[in-house]
Amino acid sequence: MIPETGIRVLDHGFVRLDGAMADDLSVVNGARVSFARRKEEMDESDEGLIRFLMRDRHGTPFEHNSFRFHIRCPIFVAREWMRHRVGSFNEFSLRYAKASDDFYVPDPDDVRSQVGKPGAYSFEPVPEDVAETARERLRAVYDTAYRTYQELVELGVARELARCALPVGAYTEFYWTVNARSLMNFLSLRNAETAQREIRRYAEACERFLEEKMPVTYAAFVANDRTAP
Ligand SMILES: Cc1cc2nc3c(=O)[nH]c(=O)nc-3n(C[C@H](O)[C@H](O)[C@H](O)COP(=O)(O)OP(=O)(O)OC[C@H]3O[C@@H](n4cnc5c(N)ncnc54)[C@H](O)[C@@H]3O)c2cc1C
Repeated sequence: MIPETGIRVLDHGFVRLDGAMADDLSVVNGARVSFARRKEEMDESDEGLIRFLMRDRHGTPFEHNSFRFHIRCPIFVAREWMRHRVGSFNEFSLRYAKASDDFYVPDPDDVRSQVGKPGAYSFEPVPEDVAETARERLRAVYDTAYRTYQELVELGVARELARCALPVGAYTEFYWTVNARSLMNFLSLRNAETAQREIRRYAEACERFLEEKMPVTYAAFVANDRTAP
């Protein structure tokens, strides 16, 4: 089920901002405390300060805020996501709860071939029949996998073991709490041409929330070639 406040991503996923304590003023006051100064409202000089901090990579003032995201994505996307160590995660447990039967089947346009060498791949469209075959084969594997999982659970096998039958296209859910500095690091790596297309879609959604909550910081990040401070 996709919560109302979420951005829909892929076929069964979403990014939802569950809560935030995030604004541009927190960056300004984090920096201005060096001079025992504090602002209640942003003005033009504060916008200039944020641009300077971003450009010169003074990163710590961008850490006095937090975004709490609720994510639903395939397990292979979560594996990539959880390599980002600066942030906190809690994930749906396949030991304690039963797996859902939602699995990722790419849209035909997202079935692609991989051309070139490691580090310099390009991803090219495939003919329609290849895309359809890929989607059918994935569906067949998912059906068998989920049926096996259910059978094992019904036989009394522990869910923590029965889950071995599930492929990485199965959906999972987690909460991710992160500050703007770490979020920008994530965005620079994962909303990038070199990132896998599926996690990129999620990063694009997260990016909308940074833009909404911290517009000056976000504009400075973009103007700085998307390099995290
Ligand atoms: C296109 C792409 C391909 C990838 N391919 C692979 C792959 O094939 N295999 C693989 O294992 N991973 C791969 N990764 C994951 C990658 O190596 C990082 O683990 C991941 O992107 C998290 O980045 P990060 O360390 O900057 O983020 P975080 O873990 O959130 O860290 C944020 C920042 O904190 C600092 N930091 C955190 N921990 C340390 C530390 N221990 N020591 C020093 N500084 C630290 C660094 O400045 C870091 O940039 C890939 C990532 C991308 C984007």
